[in-house]
Amino acid sequence: MKIGVYLCECGGNISKVVDLPNVAEFVKPFDDVAIIRQHSNMCSGAGQKLIIEDVKEHKLDKVVIAACSPQFHEKTFRGALEKAGLSPYVLEIANFREHCSWPHRENPEIATLKAKDLVESSVNKARLDYALDKKTIKMGNRVLVIGAFQNFSDGRLCRLYHFTQNGRCAG
Ligand code: SF4
Repeated sequence: MKIGVYLCECGGNISKVVDLPNVAEFVKPFDDVAIIRQHSNMCSGAGQKLIIEDVKEHKLDKVVIAACSPQFHEKTFRGALEKAGLSPYVLEIANFREHCSWPHRENPEIATLKAKDLVESSVNKARLDYALDKKTIKMGNRVLVIGAFQNFSDGRLCRLYHFTQNGRCAG
């Protein structure tokens, strides 16, 4: 397996606090990590192009991006993976900005330690990722609850039923 790890500077938002070269050194000996890159703006056209070219040239199987919250650019990076010919679901994102550099800006050492933990977890998770199939399922109006207390699930379903159907609880 070949995993590419991409460390984003976010124009200094991350790199002014987290010691990215130190993180890269930490990641280097990990099994399966074939390539580590640092870039100023991974979400830019140039950043995405770097990923796409690496995937093709180095035949990467999985990608880990250490950048911002997946809320911002998970879609962007999934799109880049698709353009590179990979499943969009073999991507892991380590949130270095919101979880490390911003909350720990006064303590770069702690921010860097935390970043190492996050990227290690992401690489471990990436090893287990596999290409998922997208499926479209027709929705019905019946519900199956698996693994909840009966009273709890009944109560929630009654509320849902009242809310969505504006009628009585069917039990
Ligand atoms: S990917 Fe996220 S962390 Fe990196 S430059 Fe873009 S917004 Fe900043």
